Amino acid sequence: MIRRRASRTIQVGSITVGGAARIIVQSMTRTDTRDARATIAQIERLADSGCEIVRLALPDKEAAAALGEIRRRTRVPLIADIHFDHRLALAAMERNIDQVRFNPGNIREPVNIAAIVCMAKERSIPLRIGINAGSLPRHSTEKELAARMVETALEQIRFIENLDFDLIEVSLKASSVLATIEANKAIAEMMPYPIHLGITEAGLPKWGAIRSAVGLGVLLHLGIGDSLRVSLTTPDPCEEVFTAYEILKSLELRQRGPKLISCPTCGRCEVEGFYDLARAVEERLLRLEEPIAVAVMGCVVNGPGEARDADVGLACGKGRGVIFKKGEKIRTVEEADFLNALLSEVEDFRSGASACARE
Ligand code: SF4
Repeated sequence: MIRRRASRTIQVGSITVGGAARIIVQSMTRTDTRDARATIAQIERLADSGCEIVRLALPDKEAAAALGEIRRRTRVPLIADIHFDHRLALAAMERNIDQVRFNPGNIREPVNIAAIVCMAKERSIPLRIGINAGSLPRHSTEKELAARMVETALEQIRFIENLDFDLIEVSLKASSVLATIEANKAIAEMMPYPIHLGITEAGLPKWGAIRSAVGLGVLLHLGIGDSLRVSLTTPDPCEEVFTAYEILKSLELRQRGPKLISCPTCGRCEVEGFYDLARAVEERLLRLEEPIAVAVMGCVVNGPGEARDADVGLACGKGRGVIFKKGEKIRTVEEADFLNALLSEVEDFRSGASACARE
């Protein structure tokens, strides 16, 4: 249903970004990059959680020096995040970084940007022009801010193109959802390069996940966006990865891991401890990587319909419930067995699905 914008592709290590490639989930490390051991451990955790490209800050020479070991001992493509000092971008490329993100808001000298482009060209390393509203002069309206972000990005794109380089990705991020949407909609029609999406400084997970889902959801639904990062104030960047996949899964742009359909409950719910039941099912599902839709419903009003539409579903009633698998009613269970029976049917479904996949 969603028609993706036709963008050019770039290769970030082993990952293709843009064109018809899948939309790539990114995140950023929280560790001090100078601490190679801690950074490597966090990158590996991110990779295990499904993060496909990891960005890391390179604030100084020591961090750049640690990058060699980090690059050698990690498996996912890495992006060096560069501000102020273009020499750090050069140092990152010398250490085989897969992409450099620089901020034209704080690397302003054309000669310094040209030095980055020149080395990127020699080594075929893609560059991300990362426009961040926080690095631009203040604007009175969201519209003005969006226009300024677009103008800054286009200036940089033209400058880099004039140096005969086109391995470009562009990101326009603001903490304002409206400015981010406006800016990305506009630039998507003005240049052919892949777009990385994000709402910057989106906040703590409760707020940040919602603001990111609204902003990125609107753009993704318009077919805009080739990679994305959900920026959350959390010590655990894997939360960003989880949220990013949920946004993509909601729009059926990616399939990864389980989907839990559970009702909010209301005065009709006839199960005591329904919330605990749903939480216990969620806890089990969060350990799965393959796509599976599981429904847990509190009564017979919407229960059978949702349970029937899921891969495995439980429609609870008074003291008893009905389990459906792939639309078929397969058994009736007593309330005391709701959790165990549902999880056992989930396992059964998974082994059936993996047997089919092997055939
Ligand atoms: S399924 Fe039943 S209990 Fe759950 S919200 Fe709907 S009507 Fe209420």
